[in-house]
Formats: sequence, structure tokens, C-alpha cells
Amino acid sequence: MTTELEDFRQETRAWLAENCPESVRGPGFIPWGSSKIELEPDTALWLERMAAKGWTVPTWPTEFGGAGLSRAEYMVLGEEIRRIGARAPLTGRGINYIGPTVLEFGTEEQKAKWLPRFARGEGGWCMGYSEPAAGSDLANLQMRCVDEGDVYRLNGMKIWTSDGIYGDWIFCLVRTDSQKPKHEGISLVLVNMDQPGVRVRPIRLISGSSPFCETFFEDAIADKDDLIGPVNQGWTVGKRLLQYERSVHGGVNTSGQQVEQKSEPLPDIAKRYIGEAGGRIADEAFRTRLVNLEMNQHAYKLTQRRVIAETEARAPTTATSILKVKGAEFTKEAAEVLQAAMGCQGFGWEGDGFTDDEIDANANWLSTRAVSIYGGTSEIQRNIIAKRVLGLPD
Ligand SMILES: Cc1cc2nc3c(=O)[nH]c(=O)nc-3n(C[C@H](O)[C@H](O)[C@H](O)COP(=O)(O)OP(=O)(O)OC[C@H]3O[C@@H](n4cnc5c(N)ncnc54)[C@H](O)[C@@H]3O)c2cc1C
Repeated sequence: MTTELEDFRQETRAWLAENCPESVRGPGFIPWGSSKIELEPDTALWLERMAAKGWTVPTWPTEFGGAGLSRAEYMVLGEEIRRIGARAPLTGRGINYIGPTVLEFGTEEQKAKWLPRFARGEGGWCMGYSEPAAGSDLANLQMRCVDEGDVYRLNGMKIWTSDGIYGDWIFCLVRTDSQKPKHEGISLVLVNMDQPGVRVRPIRLISGSSPFCETFFEDAIADKDDLIGPVNQGWTVGKRLLQYERSVHGGVNTSGQQVEQKSEPLPDIAKRYIGEAGGRIADEAFRTRLVNLEMNQHAYKLTQRRVIAETEARAPTTATSILKVKGAEFTKEAAEVLQAAMGCQGFGWEGDGFTDDEIDANANWLSTRAVSIYGGTSEIQRNIIAKRVLGLPD
């Protein structure tokens, strides 16, 4: 490691020791900008301090709320944050999805208007891509956006809007020209959700919680300045945003913050439920499964680091699709291994017979069913890998 990087590590360590409140060290809520969710004072303070330092979006340019860190410094910062077990100060679609997209495609005015707000976590962002007849076949989307001179008028519906009930803003892929071939009449526009023309209706998820919504647009309006990229070029812009999304799911996001929550190590949990024999988990088959998972997770982490280090451009590459597919598999396996360790106790839904952790393990297992669906299904990622990485014919 160079002396400059070592100096950066020491300065970072000292700053974090002084500025990271004790109560944000360990698992807990990570803000994502929603004005509808009240923050604990220490969480708000941590966000404020990190945003002032430019460390909510460490690699963004300083004029837009970042710290202009190099890839190597970004990785050191992440290591130092993890070293003290601190939570990320901010996450969400603002800094992770739409932020880097505005940075790449926005005009100078749009960058100046939006990026510092994303970096400070001012406003919670939702994603308006999917429609009832447009999921994997996203270009089939029908939501209309009509230029009315002063404003855009929006009519239509989006579905599977995560966090819809807490959203302040939504970025939508919309149809701006229905006469053109379907990929050529789409645009990406930013819409304020707090207006009479936008209505959200929660959908109940299998895991129980329900911030997940249908979103209806009935004569809603959007500012003419808030269309990102050229009109009718939204397919290119929107696909890039999806790559940013997948780079978060694949753990190779360098635009915003990687979120990693520390929890009790699986082997310790397994020893408690299954028992110990000679200091090891007392079930050989389970041990083998756990070791396989841990080796895969370790190899996955090393691959993530290699991809981050090797990616020259700021924007993600097709490696994100590979990491998304494998990451989804390991996330599901980790949830299943946890339940297998807990046995019947890992299937609790409610009631006195189960601890909170046991009920959480079950809800977590159910919610991990979605990781191979959202952000583009694993089948669609495999199609992308086949075409773009392996060069196979359509
Ligand atoms: C928890 C969760 C959160 C989500 N959050 C959001 C959100 O915030 N905003 C948003 O816009 N969307 C969101 N989505 C929607 C998500 O992006 C879509 O569910 C996903 O793209 C799949 O679309 P679909 O559900 O319409 O399934 P379909 O596209 O109908 O696919 C059904 C099945 O067919 C397969 N399939 C389809 N086409 C092909 C093909 N060409 N080749 C091979 N297999 C294929 C799929 O892989 C899948 O298994 C979320 C979904 C989930 C589960």
C-alpha cells in the first residue's frame, strides 16, 4: 500500500473514531432519504456528519456532494467503516440508482439541482419501471407522458413499487411517443409523489411487511426540466440505471455506499441450536453445507473486490449480471442454512413459542425468494450474460 493510502487510512480511522456515534455501530435502520420516516437523533447526526464530509457518496465529485475519492480510497473507507461495525449513513435509490444516472446523463443544471440533494438524503426515491404487462419485457411499458408546453402530464400505472408508501419522489420510465418502435418512444422522468395525481396502494408481501405498492398516475405532472437524457432516449438511460441497481445487488456499487449489516455468525447460531461436539457443530452434513456456503461467500466477496478494483470506468459492467445471479443464490442459501440450523423453530410466524430472531429468520427466508426476481430476474441476467459476455446469438 502506498504511503498516501496509508495516511488516508489513518486519517479516516481517526475521523470515524471521533465522529461515529456509538449507537450506529451495529445492525439497525439505515436512512434512505424518506421524509416520512423519522430518524433517531444519532442516525440523523451520523448522516449529517458523513454527508458534510462527502462520504455518503464518496466517489462523486466534490461539487456535487461527494468526496472525489479514488477507487482505492473508497475501498479503504469501506474497510474502516466495517472495522468499527458502523452502519452506512445513507442508502437507497437516490444515491445508488438515480444519482449515478443523473451524474452520467444529466445536464449541468440537473446535476447541480439533484446530486447534492441525493448526497444529503433529502427525499426518498422509488422506482417506477414495472407495469402489469411490462416486467422482463420492460420496453412494453404503456404509462403515457405528454408534453403540455409548461409541464409533462402523466397517466398510467406502475406496479411492484418498493417503498411506495414512504416515497417522496419516483423516477419513471414513460412512453413519450407511441408512434415509434417500442424501444424508441421511452423517456426517464422524475416525478414528485406528493401531488394529487399520484396515488399508492400497498400490496401485501409473502413475508408479511408491505411497503410494496401499486402506483397510479392520474393527470399527474412532472417538471419539464426533470426529464433525464434526451426525449425518447429513455431506453438507453433506463438500462444504465438498471446496471447501477444490479451493481448494488451484486455488491460492486462504487457510486453510493455499500451496505453491510453485521449479524451473529452462522456457526455460533448453529452450535446453539444443533449442539457442539469437540468444539464443532454436532452434525456433519450440516457442517459440510455451512462450510460450502462460507467458502462460496468468501470467494464471492473476493470476486466483488476484484471487479471493483478492475473496473476502470465509474459505470458498472456486465460483470454485475454475473454477480447478481450468484449473489441471489448465496443469499437464498444463507437464509435456508439459517433456518436449517434453527430446525422447526426457524419456521415461526408469530406467538410466544418463538423468539424475535426466529420469526425474523422465517420472514427473511420468505423475503429472499424475491432476490432472483427484482432488478431483473436471474433468467434475464443469464440472457444478458449469454449475449454480452459469451457472445451467443439471440
Ligand atoms: C420484492 C420486489 C421488489 C420490486 N421492486 C420494484 C420496484 O421498486 N420498481 C419496479 O419498477 N419494479 C420492481 N419489481 C419488479 C421486478 O423488476 C419484476 O418483478 C421483474 O422484472 C420480473 O417481471 P415480472 O414480475 O413481470 O415477471 P415476468 O417478466 O412476467 O416473468 C415471469 C417469469 O418468466 C421468466 N421470463 C420472462 N421473460 C423471459 C425471457 N425472455 N427469457 C427467459 N425467461 C423469461 C422470468 O424470468 C420469470 O421467471 C420488484 C419485484 C420484487 C419481487
